[in-house]
Amino acid sequence: RLSRNVVVLGGMGVGKSTAIRRFISDEFIERYYPTVSGSFTKTITIGNKEYNLTILDTTGQDETSLLDSTHVGPTDAFVIAFSVTFRKSFEIAQVIRDKILDMSGVNSVGILLVGNKCDLVGERQVSREEAQKMADSFGCPYIETSAKENINIEEVFIQSVNIANKA
Ligand code: GDP
Ligand code: MG
Repeated sequence: RLSRNVVVLGGMGVGKSTAIRRFISDEFIERYYPTVSGSFTKTITIGNKEYNLTILDTTGQDETSLLDSTHVGPTDAFVIAFSVTFRKSFEIAQVIRDKILDMSGVNSVGILLVGNKCDLVGERQVSREEAQKMADSFGCPYIETSAKENINIEEVFIQSVNIANKA
């Protein structure tokens, strides 16, 4: 069985912990637990291969505390999450990506850009088109998700394994 390590980064409240919880145990948490962090594991099958996926959830008060060097060593893929309902979190995604490149070098790291809370249609502040443009500039895929309605959550982790395999 192959092992892959994924780190989920993003501004506060974008839904990182909720999305991971949805993926691990198919539950939605309505409450906001800003301080919870840690690592979670799940086995997934992609094609005919089994992967032991370890997902690191992170916490940060702002973009400057989102990432430290301990994240970079064994990480196979980074998920950069923002909320489509909160423009500031989209701007933070750019900052995070720059930091990842600073810390790890351009060619070696796999990134996936995720716009969460796509169920909140009336509250959208970031269009799919501009998020796709940012992903294009990162040279990475863009996926829109809802942890609440379980849209594309499994897809995020499948894609992150695929990205890790290519990186
Ligand atoms: P984190 O700081 O990135 O870990 O954010 P959380 O996972 O704690 O989520 C923050 C809040 O957003 C919580 O109240 C969640 O219930 C809510 N939330 C997370 N994902 C979604 C989503 O896809 N749709 C909606 N409507 N709410 C969400
Ligand atoms: Mg969290």
